[in-house]
Amino acid sequence: MMPITTMSRPPGLPDTLTYPDTPVSTLLAGAATRFGDRTAFQHGAERLTFAETWRGACRFANALRERGVGHGDTVALHLPNCLAFPVAYYGTLLAGATFSPANPLLPPHDLAHQLADCGASAVVTYGPVARALAGTGIDLVVVYRPSGEGQLDFETFCARASEVPPDPGVDVRQDLAHLSYTGGTTGRSKGVRLPHRNVVVNSLQYGCWGYGAVPEVDDAGNPVLDQVGSEDEWPVRLGEGIGINLTPWFHAMGTIGSLNVPVLAGGTVVLHDRFDPPSYVADAERLRVTSMGGAPALFAALLACEEFHTADLSSVRTITSGAAPMPHEMINALQRRFPDAVIAEGYGLTEVTMGATLAPSWRSGRRKVGSVGVPTFDTEIRIVPAEGGEEPLPPGTPGEVCVRGPQVMQGYHNRPEETAAVLVDGWLHTGDIGVIDDDGFVSIVDRKKDMLIYKGYNVYPRELEELLMALPEVASAAVVGRRTPEAGELPVAFVVRAAGHEGAEPERLLETVNAQVVPYKRLRELRFVETIPVSAAGKVLKRELRDQLT
Ligand code: AMP
Repeated sequence: MMPITTMSRPPGLPDTLTYPDTPVSTLLAGAATRFGDRTAFQHGAERLTFAETWRGACRFANALRERGVGHGDTVALHLPNCLAFPVAYYGTLLAGATFSPANPLLPPHDLAHQLADCGASAVVTYGPVARALAGTGIDLVVVYRPSGEGQLDFETFCARASEVPPDPGVDVRQDLAHLSYTGGTTGRSKGVRLPHRNVVVNSLQYGCWGYGAVPEVDDAGNPVLDQVGSEDEWPVRLGEGIGINLTPWFHAMGTIGSLNVPVLAGGTVVLHDRFDPPSYVADAERLRVTSMGGAPALFAALLACEEFHTADLSSVRTITSGAAPMPHEMINALQRRFPDAVIAEGYGLTEVTMGATLAPSWRSGRRKVGSVGVPTFDTEIRIVPAEGGEEPLPPGTPGEVCVRGPQVMQGYHNRPEETAAVLVDGWLHTGDIGVIDDDGFVSIVDRKKDMLIYKGYNVYPRELEELLMALPEVASAAVVGRRTPEAGELPVAFVVRAAGHEGAEPERLLETVNAQVVPYKRLRELRFVETIPVSAAGKVLKRELRDQLT
């Protein structure tokens, strides 16, 4: 096992955790008892306490069961982030059914494919997008805020059902809690099979790491956090966190990061429907938020927003980022803006439930700019040759990142061959290129699929993107390959100019970057664009950029 080195061991916490074998619904059951009347979720003027969310989940679970939906069934949530989401999510799991999230903006054809693939027997959707379900043949469609005649209203569906919690009756190591579809930025998306235990484990791994806690069980046998870490080290205490959420909950970072970990920690999650930097900043100031989290695209937009630099954001104590690489310049700029806050970058993928690494998130923990931290509790990471083979490479050598741990998926749904290709003796081949240093810190260099091969040499676009981002003229940048029969792939940069640098010349930027790299890595072309396309989860859509080159 890759040792957790002294500088990255959470002080006062054990190296390994004991995880209770309980279903996911017990996370909310425990929070309802412990944090009862505290606000769990807030959306504009509406809010739900932990106890109300639990009672709602019980009613939804019983309503599903009355309609014959329970253990062995799958319920798809085709919802934007809204107050019905946590109720339907925990309710589905409490009924013993599997939760399968669907991006509410999926084109109808992709949505139909996904719903058929996961075998959904019920869908919860939202009035304005409910029409996308026409023709999918699913009998039970429950609509939050209906927008048409004859739709089954979510509130009505739950209203008469009992609040007595049913027994989910699941085998936590076998039965699926989540059947989640991966990003879909490459090829047709696949269902990732995540049993209840994975979700409870990954939530506890991050909850304990982030709050300086160990898992405990309450009198009713529900998992709760016992905060053993000192207040000097972990600045946000259980039951006092508050954060604004923009990460979509159909994505792993949103589900675990906003529906599971804050429930364990008694944190309040404030929903914003869309990202408007000035109103984000205004709410952060007004609500005295303690924590900011999201993909790098969120922080890029905040750093470009004037109010972000002038508002009183002195309540912010932790900043976490994931889903995509955070440029070094951005980390430095955030640290200058919040000199006392702990900034921690993490790394993960749907196939590991959500996460595998996190930078130390306690004050004395060492952080390394550009690294995604160290493997979290009970997680091993090794680097193997990108061309194939299972023999681990020595520290400092880039290769494919492999992860082993209790949060790794059971496999892809109904795809034994694709599962066998990525899961070898419990090691998940992530398709990411990374490197581990002598202290056990992991850096993600690139995606295997994004790596360019120029005349047989490996070129990592991320290295060129970092060099571009370090230039004052550049607000954001993405590098992709242009295929040529003679040389393989030529690196081409798409660049958004920084405000005040409208006159920047492409030739000068090319020259500056190319002077810093070996000849085979040189950028061949640089195009200025208005925006770089990113997915709802904050990942750069490189395929769209590549398409612009053909
Ligand atoms: P998803 O399954 O949609 O969560 O996507 C997972 C992919 O996002 C990983 O395989 C990585 O390529 C990328 N990713 C996630 N976190 C990071 C990070 N901190 N730095 C770089 N890439 C990341």
